[in-house]
Amino acid sequence: MKISTTKLSSLQAEQLDTWATEAINRSKLGQISAYIPLLAQADRQGFAVQIMAVDGQIWSWGSIGQTFPLMSCVKPFVLLYLLCELGETAVFDCVGCEPSQRPFNSLTQLEADRGKPRNPMINSGAIALASLIPGENAEARCENLLTWLNQQANSQLFVDELMLDSVNAVPNQNNWNLALEMVQSGYLENSEIALETYNRVCCLSGTVEDLAKLGMVLVGGGEAIWENCRTVKALMATCGLYEASSRFARLVGLPAKSGVSGAMLAVIPGQGAIGCYSPPLDREGNSIGGLFLVEQIAKSLRLSVFD
Ligand code: GLN
Repeated sequence: MKISTTKLSSLQAEQLDTWATEAINRSKLGQISAYIPLLAQADRQGFAVQIMAVDGQIWSWGSIGQTFPLMSCVKPFVLLYLLCELGETAVFDCVGCEPSQRPFNSLTQLEADRGKPRNPMINSGAIALASLIPGENAEARCENLLTWLNQQANSQLFVDELMLDSVNAVPNQNNWNLALEMVQSGYLENSEIALETYNRVCCLSGTVEDLAKLGMVLVGGGEAIWENCRTVKALMATCGLYEASSRFARLVGLPAKSGVSGAMLAVIPGQGAIGCYSPPLDREGNSIGGLFLVEQIAKSLRLSVFD
């Protein structure tokens, strides 16, 4: 059944083709994330996008069969899951909801905040939230989240075990320091299980279709979870792209989230979702191609939530 047409519905395949080609071109200036060995092997030119509209239209471009780890794109969904499972009080007792002007893995920010993570979209916040996911151990916790997400989104996310091995091969001292700071200040009980869970959920992987489907949960999540979806979209809009969040809000005006793999999700409230993958990153750790493409779509079709 077709729902009423939206501004997104007017997107033309030729426009997408032009913007995606230019996005690949621009991303040549970016850096591939190298601190996870397997991510360093990603194809610089690799590019895929899927856009879904609430009226059922779908646009795709590029290597849409390519799977990639969500990395930080999982953070909004850890938040959503916990809001639904545990409620707002439990979640926001453990993590703040203010933007941060520092990089996504900043210890300085955490120390300045006396150990309470600023928001759920940066590493400290997501590590703290990972510790709240119900389950006996990291594996069971990740499985609980995975099952719930695949049910909600009708997606086919899976744990990329090779990626996880690669993450574990080079211990991330920075994330350890964040976890230890939170233990010392009482915001985290067990740093091992928190980090193990966090690393696993960051390795939840899928295609741009899966990513767009996750985004659609935030658009039309249904009566039982819409309030939580609103909270998640608000935090994506204010914190999802780290230090670039308010610039992006001004230029683009859509809730969005990026990951170091080059994953990028943007949500168009009431209209649809854009899942994109393009590995080269800018200085803030956001996908250059993903940012460019979403900006073009949003500007041309006037999709900003502030319009
Ligand atoms: N797993 C990654 C890390 O902890 C996720 C960070 C990101 O995608 N920005 O560094």
